[in-house]
Amino acid sequence: MDPLFSSLNPRQRDAVATPGGALVLAGAGTGKTRVLVGRIAWLLKNQLAEPRNILAVTFTNKAAREMRQRVESMLNRPAGGLLVGTFHGVCHKMLRVHHQAANLPRDFQILDSQDQLNFIRRLLRENHISEELFPAAEARGYINAAKESGLRAAAVPVDGARARQMAEIYALYEAAARREGRTDFAELLLAATELLRADQNLRQHYAARFRHILADEFQDTNRLQYDWLKLLDSGENRFFAVGDDDQSIYAFRGAEPGVMRRFCEDFRAEKIVRLERNYRSTANILAAANQLIARNASRLGKTLVPAAEGDGARVMILRAPRADDEAAAIAEVIRQKRADGANLNGVAALYRMNAQSRLLERKLTEAGIPYRIYGGLRFFERMEVKNALAYLRLAAGDDDDALLRAINTPPRGIGARAMEDLRAKKFPTLCAAAWASDAPKIAKFAALIRELRQIRESESAGLGELARAVVEKSGLLEHLESRPKERDRADNLREFAAAAAEFEREHSDDLEGGATGGAAGADAALAFLANASLEAGDERPEGGAAEAANLMTAHSAKGLEFDAVFVAGLEEGVFPHSRSLDSGAPGDLEEERRLMYVAMTRARRELFLCLADERQLYGGVSRNPPSRFLDEIPKERLENPEALRRPRWTPESFSRRADSGADARASTGAGAGAVRRGQNLEWEAQLAKHSGAAGAAGAAQASGGGTGNQLAGLRPGRVVVHAKYGRGVVTERAGTGASAEIKVAFKTAGIRAFKAALAKLEPAD
Ligand code: ATP
Ligand code: MG
Repeated sequence: MDPLFSSLNPRQRDAVATPGGALVLAGAGTGKTRVLVGRIAWLLKNQLAEPRNILAVTFTNKAAREMRQRVESMLNRPAGGLLVGTFHGVCHKMLRVHHQAANLPRDFQILDSQDQLNFIRRLLRENHISEELFPAAEARGYINAAKESGLRAAAVPVDGARARQMAEIYALYEAAARREGRTDFAELLLAATELLRADQNLRQHYAARFRHILADEFQDTNRLQYDWLKLLDSGENRFFAVGDDDQSIYAFRGAEPGVMRRFCEDFRAEKIVRLERNYRSTANILAAANQLIARNASRLGKTLVPAAEGDGARVMILRAPRADDEAAAIAEVIRQKRADGANLNGVAALYRMNAQSRLLERKLTEAGIPYRIYGGLRFFERMEVKNALAYLRLAAGDDDDALLRAINTPPRGIGARAMEDLRAKKFPTLCAAAWASDAPKIAKFAALIRELRQIRESESAGLGELARAVVEKSGLLEHLESRPKERDRADNLREFAAAAAEFEREHSDDLEGGATGGAAGADAALAFLANASLEAGDERPEGGAAEAANLMTAHSAKGLEFDAVFVAGLEEGVFPHSRSLDSGAPGDLEEERRLMYVAMTRARRELFLCLADERQLYGGVSRNPPSRFLDEIPKERLENPEALRRPRWTPESFSRRADSGADARASTGAGAGAVRRGQNLEWEAQLAKHSGAAGAAGAAQASGGGTGNQLAGLRPGRVVVHAKYGRGVVTERAGTGASAEIKVAFKTAGIRAFKAALAKLEPAD
């Protein structure tokens, strides 16, 4: 058999070698992407096409690079001329080549999302449009949405005064962008579509060139992308699309679930191939994901069976009292895996909201685990967080860079001219010039900074309060909060305030007392700023070379796979996201469930579903019940389903924790560290206590002295006591009976492995 086929199952081969093109409609991990790559290689190898006759679209640039590499390694030669890229990337290339036809200057620029915002701000100013009434971010959202549905300013519907005004801003934007040779992401697609539509020769040229067009993740194709593909079709082209309706997660960006159905007719698919063997995940993981997605009513329906033998490990629940405990637990388990020789590249922690990354980043850093944030920025590098830090820096003292960043963010109508005036005053610093300025807008800003400085210096206010004042009084939060598209960024700002409050709590020992008296906020701000720059500037693993754990949103994880996956924040209101619950539309909840399905099906061997009983959310402390998605997974697939039955944490259980923390401090005299350790142990003990009656039974058996019985108590998740190492948690157990091997994570001694029969371990009470 052709070696190209030997790595494919019969149905996959059938799909690869369908002459006329096909739709592969199949569940997660069934080899859709592998089939797509295989088809490119097959076409080239059998000389059914030259590389330049093939266009493949993927969802990310990284996926595109990998795809090309895989094709080349299958063929053992370079495939020059083969075009693999994202929709945006390919459209961009096309516009560069045909910039004249597209009416663009040769060196046209692409505005990223922030550039676009600044550009709109400038336009509003120049045209004397109040940004209070027409916020730039709203205009940006409006413009992008219009473009994504293929509408130019002249064509947008104008029902009502506001719509008309927005359309006018769009028209201004369009004209200025043309004049100055600027494009944006949505423009790339729209301009390329218009170009093809307008120019028949060009259309014929590309239709003749790209005889084979392949698309991965087809379920998330939006209207404009679909139209663009259709324009490349002369009637003779062969289309090949792979996708999974259960993984459609971009409805909010205009992806239409119906595309899979329409494809067959519109693109003349010779057949629909269904793949049913999942090569990625263990049976337990797969069954859990299948049962979950079965709850969705609107599905095309698919069968998915594991290719692997045996069931694999059951899905683990990690439930923690607070969000930082959750992050610490994840970091701890990852640390153990690394100590056991696991490659960190094979580990991923997924979350629903960007703001969730902060605690994970922090706990991973504390545990000395390198990480990368896939498809995004680290918390302290995010624009809105940097904005807030700029205010905090100004509150701590004069800083011209911070001034430049903060003075017109959010917009206060302080433009380039005003800044030039400040510079012209020849003060030693810009700050000095600003504080002395009598220009009303600048004076108002100066008053704001003075107010923040007062808070910082006041005896009673701490760092947490200062940070809250920063995000609130600066107007940063309000500015983002009112815009639906910016809510994620608003969450990051709130998380910033929470981070400061937490920092203050944890460092109260180093900062209070002594000569500084009560003004903890003053020193704390400096310490916090230093900490933030350290965290942002942390050495990052480069490219794919270094080993690092992966952090990303569930959305970014699409198409990827990892040996071990942690899904964090499985609480109502987080995942499913509160927006999907508030809307009340069943479709929104179904989309959340698909996202959860995507997250779960990234896991190859181990899946950890994590939740906290309490977390900072939307500016307050939330105690949300466990995610409904956890209930939708059959109990027999869970390693410790009892963790979900555990009654919710009550205020009393918290005060008990605090008390025992105080005891720990008293007995060791070691200060705050001991308090935290004490709290953690208490948590672990409570975890064990709440994880069912087995704990108590184990203890009873242990005191009865029966080794066999005692061993029964040493299950993963159980808190144990070791004569030398103290308290720890059983993390793994391999084998049965006396020959079983047990691994225990100790707070101080790290992970230790024991032969069960010899282990000096006792289940904690
Ligand atoms: P997703 O829906 O998540 O994008 P997918 O359907 O694209 O998944 P792939 O990523 O192509 O699936 O494949 C999943 C895993 O299974 C990969 O590790 C792939 O190498 C492996 N795989 C696919 N087909 C086979 C096969 N026939 N034999 C062995 N392994 C396979
Ligand atoms: Mg795939």
